[in-house]
Amino acid sequence: MGFAKNFVGTVLDCLWPRHCFHCGDWLHGHSHYLHLCLRCVGSINFICGNSCPRCGHPHWDDNRGESDCWNCRGREFAFRSCRSLFEYNGLGRAIVREIKYRGSLFLLPDVGRLSRELFGDLRGKVLVPVPLHWRRRLLRGYNQSELICSALASEHGCRTLRLLRRVKPTRQQVGLGRVQRLENMVSAFAVDGHVVRKKKIARDEEIFLVDDVLTTGSTMHACAVALAGAGFRSVQALSLARG
Ligand SMILES: [Zn+2]
Ligand SMILES: [Zn+2]
Repeated sequence: MGFAKNFVGTVLDCLWPRHCFHCGDWLHGHSHYLHLCLRCVGSINFICGNSCPRCGHPHWDDNRGESDCWNCRGREFAFRSCRSLFEYNGLGRAIVREIKYRGSLFLLPDVGRLSRELFGDLRGKVLVPVPLHWRRRLLRGYNQSELICSALASEHGCRTLRLLRRVKPTRQQVGLGRVQRLENMVSAFAVDGHVVRKKKIARDEEIFLVDDVLTTGSTMHACAVALAGAGFRSVQALSLARG
């Protein structure tokens, strides 16, 4: 079987050669990924340790000798914990931008595979994408957080529920400071009661909010506040990249 599978794979690779979307190298069939070579995957800065258990900030204790995280000191988060798959630089940044600005569906199976180990505990869980305001969604044609949810759902066997609506059009967070980001997000989200009733979601269900990039955590916090207001007690945050 293994030989037959390899043979078919080699024939398919000759007929339709696949290339790494990042460096352009021919993939030859030895990469586990459809559009990424192993050398490029090796260059991704995965966040697999040394991150703050509360806000997920990577390298938070590097050379500072501090026992608590400077990023979340004095702040309250409505989510229980926060994790990101990789840092927002190099190929990690390129993947996020490809999905966010080009809606590149071809990368989604590879995104799922990249998350296989670090997000391996998601089986059977509920993923909730951070919503876009309907006007921005209409202009873009898709919500990148929903695309990321679909990649995680098919890899890990979880379900995606659009539990939240963005009820206030907000400014882009890029370029805003931490306080401005929080103010920008106040009351931006609301729980969609219709979805809660239709899908019969229990209030003690473990919910994972999903976004493409997480920087200060203000957006995730605002989403978690809306969920907490509707009685959802166990909310965690996940993002593809950490800015
Ligand atoms: Zn490559
Ligand atoms: Zn922290």
